[in-house]
Amino acid sequence: MPIEIDSSFPGGNIVVEGIDRDEVRVHQDLRDTSSDWFYWCFRVRGAEGRTLRFTFTKSRALGVRGPAVSRDEGETWNWLGSDAVNDGAFSYTFPEDKAWVRLSFAMPYQESNWRRFMKGLGNNAAVSTHTLCTTAKGRAVEYELLGGQNPEPRHRVAITCRHHCCEMMANYTLEGLLRWVLTENDAEAQWFREEVAMMVVPFVDKDGVEEGDQGKNRRPRDHARDYEGKSLYASTAAIRGLLPEWGGDRLRVGLDLHCPGIAGEHNEVIYVVGLSDQRNAREQNRFTEILESVCTGPLPFHAVNFLPFGQAWNNTDNYTAGKTFPQWVVAELSGAALSLPIEIPYANAGGAEVNQSSLRLFGKDLGRALASYLRTLPTTGAQQGNALDRRLRAGE
Ligand SMILES: [Zn+2]
Repeated sequence: MPIEIDSSFPGGNIVVEGIDRDEVRVHQDLRDTSSDWFYWCFRVRGAEGRTLRFTFTKSRALGVRGPAVSRDEGETWNWLGSDAVNDGAFSYTFPEDKAWVRLSFAMPYQESNWRRFMKGLGNNAAVSTHTLCTTAKGRAVEYELLGGQNPEPRHRVAITCRHHCCEMMANYTLEGLLRWVLTENDAEAQWFREEVAMMVVPFVDKDGVEEGDQGKNRRPRDHARDYEGKSLYASTAAIRGLLPEWGGDRLRVGLDLHCPGIAGEHNEVIYVVGLSDQRNAREQNRFTEILESVCTGPLPFHAVNFLPFGQAWNNTDNYTAGKTFPQWVVAELSGAALSLPIEIPYANAGGAEVNQSSLRLFGKDLGRALASYLRTLPTTGAQQGNALDRRLRAGE
């Protein structure tokens, strides 16, 4: 039986250059990416029991724990480990008993994962799913509203994911955070449910997520630079339209989850990226101290890894194409106390293994940090509610 290598499924990305017995030459498909990048994901059939060697011919596309492998069509993933990697190639012995095996740069997270996660929460009155917009390719971009227990929440928090569509590890953290908020029975989570409303956009670049694009440095514009001038994309335009109304005078935090580069400095620790606004940067520092102090999960977070504006890649040159979501929150939503990107590495966080379960546990830490941070903020009297909430509650 010939070997079949295929990327026609959500998140798939590969260019197969050739197969010569057990040697396969491939490279990641950059599509409309203006720089090099490293995301890929494919599935293999017809290689049962064989050991194949996959060589990436164009540029580095294997991370610090090697590729990830899934034998259940992308539901669970494991790292093959760095031992499987040698000189831009990796070897893998396919199990005897599986038809399709998926291999990827990391642990892909698609719309189907999110739907499964939301379904797993059951019929939870504290969360509701809405449609933000329809993409250029006709896909619905969903957003979730949390915090149904109190019609007049004390605080509002907005969270976005996948401005860069390949940065899938962030979604597992988001799962952990939402599960903590919605299901944990401790006093902190209960307080959160009662006092904090959340708006969550799990896939800002939905088309890129489903089509398996890189999304980073996308031509003609990166989604994470689309918050200046006229937005090019329906999802960023919709966020800019919706959030000021939903947040009203209670939007406290804008949080944007990302994954960094492939390896090396600033790519193997979890860290907060500093904004140029000094007041916001002080709050970012305060939040990083709180997050470090509450972290109990397997992934370490150290405030010392905070990357101030003006250092390393985080400088003016990096943002000439337009504002990011956190920069837009600071510029346009002046009532927000804190706006921040968090970079979550793909495979290694300060020596700890990044994977589906450790990321979910970090999400819980992140939830507890948000709760602690919000409790330090001064609160004003009862909110008057806002027009959008009333419309949503009325089922419009
Ligand atoms: Zn990013």
